[in-house]
Amino acid sequence: MPKVYLLLGGNLGDRTSYLQQARESINQQVGRLMRSSKIYETAAWGKTDQPNFLNQVLEVQTELTPEQVLQQINQIEQELGRIRHEHWGARVIDIDILFYANQVQQTQRLTIPHPQLHLRRFTLLPLSELVPELEHPLLHKSINQLLQECPDELEVWEFEE
Ligand code: AMP
Repeated sequence: MPKVYLLLGGNLGDRTSYLQQARESINQQVGRLMRSSKIYETAAWGKTDQPNFLNQVLEVQTELTPEQVLQQINQIEQELGRIRHEHWGARVIDIDILFYANQVQQTQRLTIPHPQLHLRRFTLLPLSELVPELEHPLLHKSINQLLQECPDELEVWEFEE
């Protein structure tokens, strides 16, 4: 069964509770949640006048196609009351597909692997915790390698409640 890697992020309200609710919904609506990374905290990316983000990467075994996964995560985002004010603006939960097995796909609705994953420390760090040796199917580098080469200077640290 294919493994899909999802990135959770949020910076509004009870941030850990939203992550937990997202994990539960994903386990019910996308597929079995196999592993979760630690939770990491990051200063907001792109815009700096808003609360810090929490991020977490999940490994999920799914019977759904990538499009069906997208449909489910969009629904979960809506259920959790995502408030969308502006691009890169504050939100309670954002869910991105990082990898779907070793598939490469680019359509209007969906780009896999996620086009920014290699550019963001807040994605690579939790991902490296779960799959340090996974090879990016387009860049042909491991997650650890991408992390070492990542130009992103935004600080990412382990979250402590
Ligand atoms: P955003 O709210 O900025 O995360 O963008 C969400 C939209 O981006 C979705 O409705 C998708 O159509 C599109 N999208 C393209 N590639 C991906 C991906 N790998 N993961 C999640 N959404 C994606």
